[in-house]
Amino acid sequence: MSDKDTGQHPDEPHQSGLARRLNWLRAGVLGANDGIISVAAVLVGVAGTGTGTASILASGIAALVGGALSMAVGEYVSVSSQSDSEKALIAKERQELATLPSEELDELTALYEAQGISHATARQVAVELTAKDALRAHLSAELGIDLDDIVSPWHAAGASALAFLIGGLLPFIVTLAVPAPWKIPVTFAAVLAALALTGTISARVGGSSKRLGTLRVVLGGAIALAATFAIGALLGTTGVA
Ligand SMILES: [Zn+2]
Repeated sequence: MSDKDTGQHPDEPHQSGLARRLNWLRAGVLGANDGIISVAAVLVGVAGTGTGTASILASGIAALVGGALSMAVGEYVSVSSQSDSEKALIAKERQELATLPSEELDELTALYEAQGISHATARQVAVELTAKDALRAHLSAELGIDLDDIVSPWHAAGASALAFLIGGLLPFIVTLAVPAPWKIPVTFAAVLAALALTGTISARVGGSSKRLGTLRVVLGGAIALAATFAIGALLGTTGVA
């Protein structure tokens, strides 16, 4: 539950539809990664203690539900605070447009002029856009807010919980389906293969080195699983669990 990335970045206001979709994809991949690693870590830890299937099932369900809810809450809080500040800016801009229309037209003209357009052309652009949708034009030019880009906190929360569940179900199903002597090694292998896949996808989405991104996430997952397995095995042999 490390990354609360919502797919929205205040420093990248002017996103195309494709960039927006890629951001959602990246957020989904990160959520799935969290699900794969944290649920697998719990399962491998519990299986490492040598307890039976009932304990593995119960702890796996707890890890799935707890992790998904934690993702949803984190995402809801972070997207809510962002959308609250956007709503406040939109309300302020709407009020300024209603009370100071000519100052606002000058302001919009100046913003286009600052991009290197002649005054006459900037004025014409400002007049035409103001006639069409003054609020949209001001939000985009002044504040970098795209009215189509505002993410609902509920949607973001639901999407990251779902991504976590999809990721977490993989180690959950594998651990329960595979018989005892193979449980841990097969879960380990399935998790590393899934992380290699999500690492490749997110490296491709982010445009970074595929091999390096994949290596990082696979190594991170391997360390997490090895650590929880070691702790579980220690607890099992010392009789704590
Ligand atoms: Zn304005």
